[in-house]
Amino acid sequence: MSEKSIGQEIFDKLSYKKKNIFEEATPEKVKAIFDYNVGYAAFLDAAKTEREATAYAIKMAEAKGYTEYKLGEELKVGDKKYLNQHGKSLILFKVGENDLESDGIRILAAHIDSPRLDLKQVPMYEEAGMGFLKTHYYGGVKKYQWTAIPLALHGVMVTADGSVVEVNIGEDDSDPVFYINDLLPHLGQKQGAEPLSSAISGESLNILIGGLPYDDKDVSDKIKLTALSILNEKYGVTEEDFLSAELSLVPAFKARDIGFDRALIAAYGHDDRVCSYPAVTALLDNGDTKHTVMVVLADKEEIGSVGVTGMQSDILVDVMKEISRSLGKNEVVVRSKSKCLSADVTACYDPNFADVYERRNSAMISCGTTMSKYTGARGKSSTNDASAEFVGFIRKLFRDNGVIWQTAELGKVDAGGGGTVAMYIANHNIETVDLGVPVISMHAPYEVVSKADVYSTYEAFCAFVK
Ligand code: MN
Ligand code: MN
Repeated sequence: MSEKSIGQEIFDKLSYKKKNIFEEATPEKVKAIFDYNVGYAAFLDAAKTEREATAYAIKMAEAKGYTEYKLGEELKVGDKKYLNQHGKSLILFKVGENDLESDGIRILAAHIDSPRLDLKQVPMYEEAGMGFLKTHYYGGVKKYQWTAIPLALHGVMVTADGSVVEVNIGEDDSDPVFYINDLLPHLGQKQGAEPLSSAISGESLNILIGGLPYDDKDVSDKIKLTALSILNEKYGVTEEDFLSAELSLVPAFKARDIGFDRALIAAYGHDDRVCSYPAVTALLDNGDTKHTVMVVLADKEEIGSVGVTGMQSDILVDVMKEISRSLGKNEVVVRSKSKCLSADVTACYDPNFADVYERRNSAMISCGTTMSKYTGARGKSSTNDASAEFVGFIRKLFRDNGVIWQTAELGKVDAGGGGTVAMYIANHNIETVDLGVPVISMHAPYEVVSKADVYSTYEAFCAFVK
């Protein structure tokens, strides 16, 4: 072995370089990383919407002794509870023995909604021998990516008598799937010259649902009637029930390993299930911690964290208030001592699109869970900019627990921007910083992450709640 020069030794001591987790890992560690991602893949396939993610997380929590909490209930040290917010967002919490007024609450906040296509309220029609459903896209989608791929229909319909009917078509291998037509290249000369953003319009994202005419000469919309009669037979619904429905089209793809070595994993909706799953498992795997710990799985992040199930709702503070009140503590003091990791994804450096990234400050794949001191756009507009002290606190925590992590901005200054729930939580006087998994092709119907980064995020959350 060649000896290091003195200069090299000093350089290694004084300089900073990101580490690739797979390069650092023992074979046992690589196995642990791969094993953990098997559970994550099962979550991805079972929980493609916020409602499904809520139900799945409740099952996981109940298996570890968590029970349902209703606002107003008295709480005590040792309680393990979940608040089901309208079936679309979830707050899981565990009341620890540490004094709330000095230790606060450790909060992990992720979101469980993902970009998708929602049905309009009067969606069904037929034209030229084909049946269709009209959609209105939800969140930031590149519309051209949603054509010519298999889609599944998920959601609920509330019938005239108020009963809720769950719909799920396209996930079982024996199910049909749905589809959005695209133009053949032979006739695509004009379309090909259009910018990406307008080549496929929002009003052309119509879902192909059938082609079999109902057997009755007198009926005008025969294909529509075939679809309606199948829906009526299967779910007992009528066309009017679409008025009070929440139905979404999501990619019908299952999570799959990517590449010869299976180091990466592709799925719909990594953003932000890839932080939600580590947050829930970190809470459930660390049941004996002395901290009071809360995991928030929020809805509506992709459209501004609005509404009763979004992170701007009072519900987070309400639950913190109720925990504090039950234990005879001052909620204002508790909030001031609480700490939050806003658990959301960031952009992974992609050499295929290198010009929008500033490499030194980009998340590199497999280099670990990624902290963004700030997000936002332009001159740090619309962001929580965490303090050096809070970043230093988290840094020490990760160092003490052997977590390999990195920092990143979303991309080059002025290349664009984005936000997370961090600023809404920080507004409540809760110290917050963004931490999560770097994603390739974020918001595409099929996104890619590194299994090492998923596991690193789990390790980081464990260190935070322990
Ligand atoms: Mn996100
Ligand atoms: Mn997003």
